[in-house]
Parts: sequence; C-alpha cells; structure tokens
Amino acid sequence: MKKGKMICEEMGISPKVYEFGAEIEKGLKERFDAIDETVEYNQLKVLSGMQKAKVEAACFAATSGYGYDDQGRDKLEEVYAHVFRGESALVRPQIACGTHALAVALSGNLRPGDELLSPVGKPYDTLEEVIGIRPSKGSLAEYGVTYRQVDLLENGSFDYPAIEKALNEKTRLVTIQRSKGYQTRPTLSVSRIGELIAFIKERRPDVICMVDNCYGEFVETIEPTEVGADLCVGSLIKNPGGGLAPIGGYIVGKKEYVENAAYRLTSPGLGREVGASLGVMTSFYQGFFLAPTVVGGALKGAIFAANIYEKLGFSVIPNSTESRHDIIQAVTFGTPQGVIEFCKGIQAAAPVDSFVTPEPWAMPGYDSDVIMAAGAFVQGSSIELSADGPMKPPYAVYFQGGLTWQHAKFGILMSLQKLVDAGLVTI
Ligand SMILES: *Cc1c(COP(=O)(O)O)cnc(C)c1O
Repeated sequence: MKKGKMICEEMGISPKVYEFGAEIEKGLKERFDAIDETVEYNQLKVLSGMQKAKVEAACFAATSGYGYDDQGRDKLEEVYAHVFRGESALVRPQIACGTHALAVALSGNLRPGDELLSPVGKPYDTLEEVIGIRPSKGSLAEYGVTYRQVDLLENGSFDYPAIEKALNEKTRLVTIQRSKGYQTRPTLSVSRIGELIAFIKERRPDVICMVDNCYGEFVETIEPTEVGADLCVGSLIKNPGGGLAPIGGYIVGKKEYVENAAYRLTSPGLGREVGASLGVMTSFYQGFFLAPTVVGGALKGAIFAANIYEKLGFSVIPNSTESRHDIIQAVTFGTPQGVIEFCKGIQAAAPVDSFVTPEPWAMPGYDSDVIMAAGAFVQGSSIELSADGPMKPPYAVYFQGGLTWQHAKFGILMSLQKLVDAGLVTI
C-alpha cells in the first residue's frame, strides 16, 4: 500500500474515502498546473517589489513607542505599493483585522453628507454595522454618511441601469466586494471589477472606487488596483500575510486616499508617521513573500473540495470547473448536520486544537449563529485551513485556506470521512 494512504488510514481516513479523493485528484492535473503558473508569476512580482524597495536586514528590527522613521514599516509599504501597482500603501499591525481596515478606509474618505454606494449587493456581514445598515454605535450612518445599494441581477451580472440611477451628486465612494463572503453569488474576477469601475468612472470620475479585496490577493496575476481601483483593502490574516503575519491589515492605492485613511487610523496630523512595528516586520515580509505559494495551495484545496462535493451531488460555488477569483469554496449541505459534520472534519485535521469539537455560537458582528472550524497558529486566521458557516438556510459551509495543499487535501478528506461516518453521505 502507498505510504500516503497508510498514514491517512492511521489518522482516521478510511481506504474508501482515500481512494475516492485519489480518483478526483487524478483529474485535476491541468488545473493544478495552471495554478502553479500563477504562483510563479506572483512569486516574482513580490520578489521584484522587494528588490526594488531594497529590502535589507535592518527592515526586520523592532521599533517601539511612536515608531518615528520606522524603516522596515515604510519599506514594506513601498513593497505593497509596487506589488499592487498603487501609489502608496498602509500596512500596519495597528489595523486589527479586515473589517477594521475597511472601516478605516471608509471613514477616512467619507464626510458627513456623503453617500456610499455598493453596486454589488449586500456587503460582508461585519460591514453592515460599519455602514449602519444594522444600527450600530459609531457607524458611518451616525456620522451622517448615507448608504445606497444596487443588487446584482439574478444571473450575477451588474445592474448597470440601476447603478447609473444610484450614482448621484452625493455619491463619494463606491465599495466593491470582490469575494462572495457569506453569500452564494459568484466572486468577481479582477477584469469584471475593472469593467464596473470603468462604467462608474465614465459617469463620475471623481468618485472613489474601493475594492474589498479580502481573500482575492494573488488568486489572479493582477489585482484590482491594476484595473482602476483607487483603493484595495484587505486583512493580513488572510492571503497576503501568507499565514505568518500574526495580525494586521493593508490599504493600498492612490496616495491621497491612503493618507486620508492613515489620518483616521492614527490621528489627524499624525497619519502614517507614527505606529511602531513592535517586531512583527519579519513575519509581514516573510509572509508576503510566501503568500503566492500559500494561496496556490489553498486554491488547489478549494478546487479539490468542489470536485469531491459536486460529485457527491451537493451544490458547490464555484462549481468543479469554473475559474477562481478567491480562495473560498462554498458547499451547500441543506441541513445543519451537514455543516456541522463538515466543520468537525476540518477541525479534526488541524495541527492545533484537533481534539476540540466546534459548535455554533453567536459571534459578534454576525446576525445568526456561526460555526467555525479552525485549528490555527494565528487565532481566526482563515488563510490557514478553516471552515465556517452561518446556521441559517441554505446551510452552506464556506471553506478556505490551508498553508499547504497537502494539509488542505487531508482536511477535505477528513470532512468527507465525518459526513460518511454520520451517514449523511454514501460513497
Ligand atoms: C474576512 C472578510 C472581511 C472582514 O475581515 P475580518 O478580518 O474578519 O474582520 C471583509 N470582507 C470580506 C469579503 C471578507 O472575506
């Protein structure tokens, strides 16, 4: 028997589940080769950014206090600006998470009386409170920023006539979420984002186009800032942190708008000049360097999962063959049990906390109970193998990450094993 199969069996995967996975994997060679090509391109894109910025050992030194003249921090921001083809970037451990990065970018660039427009439907759950769609302390709504939303059409395309109508003299910023988040709409490709931005800029060149880039970084060979986005925003405990960044977020794009965000992140007058890096710079640089490869592994895992669960008759988004624009894989189980067993499998496959059982809970920022499976080195990191699902119909689980393809594969096999053991799936 093959060694891989043997150790899987020792670790709780039945030969039948293993063989089922092996058969699926055989059919994915071409897709995996294409991912490797993207990884190679993005690896060199990052490397070239680091070389251009003349990254050196001194960049890794910890700074404290105000963090004036923090060379490592400033050069890392230069690297991000190069890689995203932006004018400027803010990449900070003081940005607590993706929601915070988005909140800072929004509140730094919107003023009372301005209007925010989402032309791609409802934004990510936690943004509802930032914007004030759900009333919330400190929301943009409390500061007199209004919000308008245009949903995608039934077939997932942009509702251009409605977008044109929604753009008005108050519209100051358009927010475009690349990834589907906890929805079952398709994720937007960078080129579709480019088309949407072109449409908006033709009508209102002065409107700021911001992209919530969470989970999208390095999936393609271009980023939204290369197709007209004024700002791209994301979390370092997702793709660009490469699994090594222990905290942080980034905002990259037009200098003026990045600066506006910096004045909100720290303080008016201080902006980007303060903010000590406290010794996290090595992990920020090294994580960014590894990120293209890590994202490639996560993508392979997502495609593997889509092919497994589609074959078993579940609805999967994206489906087994379509092209990828983020690392998230949604699988609709239709029952709470399906979601729970899937998450149990992901948890059982983790390097950390593999012995605990995930349970649904009322997570802050979400409007229903959510179950999360993660046994991560960095708490809540979703570039590491993780799965989560809101406990509400259609009972879909959102699976993402895996620092290596091999680990992602094992996690998916374990999820299948749990579903088989619970009698929810027969293979
Ligand atoms: C994860 C995510 C966020 C929020 O990031 P947190 O780090 O969880 O605060 C926002 N938008 C999208 C699309 C995301 O995937």
